[in-house]
Amino acid sequence: MFKGILITKDDAGYRASCQEIDESVLQEGDVTVRVEWSTLNYKDGLAMTGKAPVVRRFPMVPGIDFAGTVIESGNPRWKAGDRVLLNGWGVGETHCGGLAQVARVKSEWLVALPEDFTARQAMAIGTAGYTAMLCVMALEKHGLKPTDGAILVTGANGGVGSVAIALLAKLGYSIIASTGRMDDAEHLKALGAAEVIDRNELASPGKPLGRERWVGVIDTVGSHTLANACAMTRYNGAVAACGLAQGMDFPSTVMPFILRGISLYGIDSVMAPLSVREAAWQRLARDIDLTKLAALTREIGLAEAIAVAAELLEGKVRGRVVVDVNR
Ligand code: NDP
Repeated sequence: MFKGILITKDDAGYRASCQEIDESVLQEGDVTVRVEWSTLNYKDGLAMTGKAPVVRRFPMVPGIDFAGTVIESGNPRWKAGDRVLLNGWGVGETHCGGLAQVARVKSEWLVALPEDFTARQAMAIGTAGYTAMLCVMALEKHGLKPTDGAILVTGANGGVGSVAIALLAKLGYSIIASTGRMDDAEHLKALGAAEVIDRNELASPGKPLGRERWVGVIDTVGSHTLANACAMTRYNGAVAACGLAQGMDFPSTVMPFILRGISLYGIDSVMAPLSVREAAWQRLARDIDLTKLAALTREIGLAEAIAVAAELLEGKVRGRVVVDVNR
């Protein structure tokens, strides 16, 4: 038995509770990990509240990421004592996840914990921060450089947005942060934003083309915000789209693409191949400012995770939340 969050669905309804879990709940996997830290990501909020059908099997341990130590391995790639982390692969959705003291997963899903990070720091970054890095890498692959112009980051106070700002600032970019929480503008500036704009400027239906305001975008909210972000991207600029906090629609036109030659990059962290993950984590080890990471991170215990997951979906959580699964 071990402690964890368990989501069940039956005649009594859908619910998440913190409880003792029998190991028989865990699915097949050739590596067993003693989880030390997990996190709360947007998808964990959806899973624990049941607001979207991300959980595909019941009972389910939520938690799309974790960091810890291998207890037992049936694969030569890992041995007991190895420090590992995991992001995505359907963990916390179809395969029991990280919001528990023990996880059993497939060996090929694991990444070695970079030596530069403690397990807690790796989870302060978590899937949100690793996704932010994938977005930065997409803009770089496009050829953007700090001297080309400003980068817009939407959902700036969220997990992906906060880490994206910290990363871009360290790399020397000028950042325009879009947020619904203008009271937190000073915090966003401390993370590295040069300018903070109210998200209402981008949230409603706009023109097919607007004034060219930025050369690159990291968008975590989708919908009209993404459409307006594209419409205001400079000639030959690039937009990395990873989220849907405003909505999954994309009410745009082809105009920014055919008249300004902009490119839209889709970012998926869940099924990204191992080589991409390893590259992203190596870059994070180099490019994240650990003082800023600490400033955007809040720590909670396992039992608090259910309530905080609901707050996260209400947009009340700032930055990242790490979960001590042993508390
Ligand atoms: P958070 O909840 O931490 O942040 C989301 C932020 O979006 C909020 O803090 C808020 O920022 C903004 N927001 C919320 N509601 C709205 C709204 N109605 N309109 C406009 N902005 C809104 O989530 P994460 O940062 O963890 O994730 C962000 C998005 O990225 C999610 O949609 C998530 O599913 C997605 N994601 C995708 C991944 C992938 O692989 N593609 C991986 C990880 C996340 P503010 O208060 O500053 O306005």
